[in-house]
Amino acid sequence: MRVKMILPALTEAESPFWRPIKYSLFPPLGLATLAAYLNPDDEIDLQDQHVEELNLNDNPDLVIIQIYITNAYRAYKIADHYRQQGAYVLLGGVHVTSLPDEASQHADSIFLGPGEETFPQFLKDFKNKHPKKVYISAIRTLHQIPLIRRDLIKRSRYLVPNSIVVTRGCPHHCNFCYKDAFFKGGKAFYTQVVDDALAEIDRLPGRHLYFLDDHLLGNEKFASELFEGMKGMNRVFQGAATVNSILQGDLIEKAAEAGLRSLFVGFETFSPANLKQSNKSQNLEKDYIKAVNRLHSLGIMINGSFVFGLDDDDNDVFKRTVDWGVKNSITTSTYHVLTPYPGTKLFKDMESQGRILTHNWDLYDTRNVVYQTTKLTADELKNGYNWAYKEFYSWTNIIKSSINHESHMHKLKHFIYTGGWKKFEPVWNFLIKTKSLNNMLPILESILTKVNPRETRFQMTKTILAK
Ligand code: SF4
Repeated sequence: MRVKMILPALTEAESPFWRPIKYSLFPPLGLATLAAYLNPDDEIDLQDQHVEELNLNDNPDLVIIQIYITNAYRAYKIADHYRQQGAYVLLGGVHVTSLPDEASQHADSIFLGPGEETFPQFLKDFKNKHPKKVYISAIRTLHQIPLIRRDLIKRSRYLVPNSIVVTRGCPHHCNFCYKDAFFKGGKAFYTQVVDDALAEIDRLPGRHLYFLDDHLLGNEKFASELFEGMKGMNRVFQGAATVNSILQGDLIEKAAEAGLRSLFVGFETFSPANLKQSNKSQNLEKDYIKAVNRLHSLGIMINGSFVFGLDDDDNDVFKRTVDWGVKNSITTSTYHVLTPYPGTKLFKDMESQGRILTHNWDLYDTRNVVYQTTKLTADELKNGYNWAYKEFYSWTNIIKSSINHESHMHKLKHFIYTGGWKKFEPVWNFLIKTKSLNNMLPILESILTKVNPRETRFQMTKTILAK
């Protein structure tokens, strides 16, 4: 059987105003995971439109398309094209799960929720010529799942080909997050067997890993055993976790010991009213600065996530947030305009209040205002968001933020990481065009090496340049 698997590009990934590098970081692991259930004799062509031009002049028997919100219209067009050619088309992903009626108009079968149980079921039905129109995930487990077909991934086109997911979902219920909508009707947080996760890590070449788990520290027992097993593997890794999990117990120390060097942290807002509106109770009354200091003391760089436009935000929120990030040496900040994704509690609340202004999913990219704001006007919110990015990543603030660290090594690492990420766009574009992005990995690995307090600034620079 000829199988085509496609991740269509997000609309913003192809806009001239946004940065191609942001969309060339991680390969489509979800599709490569599903590919593992196919027959080894099947001819599989996995295409990711973020890093390659799609070839639609082929004739597959089965087409599988993954949909996030802003690639929905593009995905539907591709689906329609292949259906007209007589291929059997499957659609899945968060957007399909949130809006099954919309998606099913463009598909022969749709998949709601994760596909580890339903996709093999579909393959059986397809073989028996009785596939169903809708497959709903009910059993959630990562036990004995087949090995991800990483051989289908074009490694050289990604900065971080060694991305990995060892859990699914998250134990929390923030009401702007897709998680509850996607995992509705079954377990919303579950993990791999630790030994399987360690074996998967062991199979990955090089040193660097990026855990794409929503909350790597979400299950204390699992994370603790995972980090114990990773000690001595000589890995450096990045991941995501909550403020709360950084402050509790000694899990973060164990993570640092295993090689954690940079963490995505969802601070989101400083306002208790906003946290309550978002049902983000895990951040309520938590000492953000204490969490930041703890990470810095372990040599872990921080990517802080912040949301603008919650109902308690006023015009000062942008400056307050940028100043806080610079003062506390947050390495990189990711800002978002609040976006009520369909299927979330936030969307339902706003819809019932008549606050949803558009159903054009292309605009649901966390850069546009798609709902009726309260204290801020839509223009103030959009302009403030743009201002925050520009201001946080100004050279003045990159330098200020870097020199706030105590050790020289930290200062230098911060400066190179932030400056490199945001200020060398032509270099990134060149590497993407020449399909050689992966050549930057050794530099990333050296920036993520452990901070040695006795190492001088000169030695550190030498180490980085030597790679
Ligand atoms: S903590 Fe993060 S992943 Fe978990 S529900 Fe909240 S936003 Fe979603």
